[in-house]
Amino acid sequence: MKLVFATHNQNKFNEVKALLPSHIELVSLTDIGCHDEIPETAETLKGNAKIKADYVTRTYGLNCFADDTGLIVDALNGAPGVYSARYAGEQKNAQDNMNKLLSELKGVENRSARFQTSIALNIDRETIYFEGFVEGKITTSKSGEQGFGYDPIFQPEGYQKTFAELPLKVKNLISHRGKAIQKLVTYLHQNSTK
Ligand code: IMP
Repeated sequence: MKLVFATHNQNKFNEVKALLPSHIELVSLTDIGCHDEIPETAETLKGNAKIKADYVTRTYGLNCFADDTGLIVDALNGAPGVYSARYAGEQKNAQDNMNKLLSELKGVENRSARFQTSIALNIDRETIYFEGFVEGKITTSKSGEQGFGYDPIFQPEGYQKTFAELPLKVKNLISHRGKAIQKLVTYLHQNSTK
C-alpha cells in the first residue's frame, strides 16, 4: 500500500519509514511532486493535521497522514499552542520564538508546559487520529545545542536537562512526536492491508 507522509522534512520522514511494516510504501510530498505550502488555518493541532492530510488525499487520491505540533504553556493560557512555529512572527525563527517566550515568562513562577503532537491518518476513506504528549517546564535561559525549535528551553519531566542537551535517541523515546508516531505505527502494523 502506498502511504504519503505529508512532510518535506527528510529527517522526520526517514525516522518514520524505518518503523513501518515493509508492505507499506511510504512516500513524501516531494516524492509525489507536491511542492505546495499547504495553509494551516485551523485553530487546533488536530484540525491542522486533518487539513494537510485531506489536501493530499483530495488532490492525489492517496492514503496520507500528517502531523502538527505545538508547545502549550499553562501560565500563558495554552500559548503559543497552534501558533508555535510563528509565535514571534511569520519569519518562523526559533531564536526569536524562544526569546519572546522567555520574556513573556519573566518573573512567572508557574513554568509548566507540554508539547503535543496530533496526527491525522486518512486511510480507506476514514480519518483516524493519534496524539502524543510530553510534560515538562520552560527553563529561565537557553541550554544545549541539539534539536530544533524550543528544545533549548524545554526540560522534560524527570530530567535535569533540556531537550537540546539530551541525546536524540532519548528525546525520540520520550517526546510528543515519538509517542504519537509509535501509536500510528502500532495501528498500521495491526490494521493495514497490502
Ligand atoms: P511542526 O508541526 O512539527 O512543524 O511544529 C510546529 C512548531 O512547534 C515548530 O516550528 C517548533 O517551533 C515547535 N516544535 C515542534 N516539535 C518540536 C520539538 O520536538 N522541539 C522543539 N520545538 C518543537
